Amino acid sequence: MSEPKLSHRACPLCSRDNRDEPASRWSRDEWTIKECPECEFIYLENAPEYEALADDYCWTLTVPQERNRRLQSEPLFSRLSQSWKQVWSRTLPRGKCEWLAQRFCQPGSVVDLGCGSGSLLKKMGDRFVPHGIEIDPHAAALARQVVEPRGGSIVECDVLHGLRQFPEGSMSGVVMKCYLEHETAPADVLRAAERILRPGGHLVIKVPNIGCWNFRMRGKKWCGFRFPDHVNYFTPETLQNMVQNAGFEVARFQWNDHFPLGDNMYLVAQRPESVAVAEPLRRVA
Ligand SMILES: [Zn+2]
Repeated sequence: MSEPKLSHRACPLCSRDNRDEPASRWSRDEWTIKECPECEFIYLENAPEYEALADDYCWTLTVPQERNRRLQSEPLFSRLSQSWKQVWSRTLPRGKCEWLAQRFCQPGSVVDLGCGSGSLLKKMGDRFVPHGIEIDPHAAALARQVVEPRGGSIVECDVLHGLRQFPEGSMSGVVMKCYLEHETAPADVLRAAERILRPGGHLVIKVPNIGCWNFRMRGKKWCGFRFPDHVNYFTPETLQNMVQNAGFEVARFQWNDHFPLGDNMYLVAQRPESVAVAEPLRRVA
């Protein structure tokens, strides 16, 4: 494998350059985690660039590698943990992201960022025109089969450039399911998502919660640590701060959306109703 290109990241939440700060104890191997002394955001400082994420560190490669690494280092715990996750997932409503999107978004166009093969878009009801952005060509081709018969489209590129292809104010909803923790420029993506939402349109986010009890118990062995494909580690506070800094209002973030017994959290945000839209609204076909 050729040497992957790494980028040096300032704090994604407050933009502080933390290169002179010591590496966090959560770092592993060559991967440097920083805990920002200014805003407490936890992030991977030397993240792979988009091309390396798409090729050398594609999640379809890294997820099975990480599962095997955990199985070998802690065989009993890994099996118990898998069983617990199955029990826990049965106690939650299935497809909470899809449920939140259908509950909060008005009928119209909805875009799923990092949509994979379109499994979430497939579940969106007939009131919605489904769109997606996906960097993996094979997954994008599968997603097209889901959305094109319903008048939707798939943009095949990284999310930040993909979002710029949609007109301002054209979407009723934007969904980020298990996506924002992978994004090297999360604040830029949130601002770009805010631009394409119509005033009052909703954003639905699901990310791992590093404020959960499992992280406190497991520390460095917490299942949310995935090197190098998770580059942002949100607490409920830092997630809310980043979303609000991008111009959103928080529409729903109640106790059971960031319950500390779960490893993930869910937030619904809204583009303010009063926002002035720079261009006339155009519906995306
Ligand atoms: Zn910071």
